[in-house]
Amino acid sequence: MQVSDNKVVSFHYTLTGPDGTTLDSSAGGEPLTYLHGASNIIPGLEKALEGKQEGDRLSVTVEPEEAYGLADEALIQEVPREAFQGVDEIQPGMRFQADSSHGPMMVVVTKVEGDTVTVDGNHPLAGMTLNFEVEITEVREATPEEIEHGHAHGAGGH
Ligand code: ZN
Repeated sequence: MQVSDNKVVSFHYTLTGPDGTTLDSSAGGEPLTYLHGASNIIPGLEKALEGKQEGDRLSVTVEPEEAYGLADEALIQEVPREAFQGVDEIQPGMRFQADSSHGPMMVVVTKVEGDTVTVDGNHPLAGMTLNFEVEITEVREATPEEIEHGHAHGAGGH
């Protein structure tokens, strides 16, 4: 069965970044399962899987525009240290939930200089060209309920 709209697809993947570092992998765990054609996964990967079938292995390079988007400078902000009340020591890599005009968002501290803290609200993979090594393990028809919900269900439902 070929991957097309309203099929439920399971695949194993290893995701590497532009420098070859492994960022994520399903190896040793459950494959990722999604409903094709419902924008459950990044557009570049969904397009590459179209027409493939169970057992196929593929290597997919996805540009940022087809993955997590370009990094948005507007989401990088300098805030005063006083904004982090109750935090003893602020270090790069720390994550906080911040209020924004779009509601709560996760930010990561990228720089601490004196009393100025730089935070970045971009998705950690924004701006990155991503490479996926994919092996399709199963392709099946979606159930009417899955199509109605717009996502795949596991063995016991959600
Ligand atoms: Zn559902």
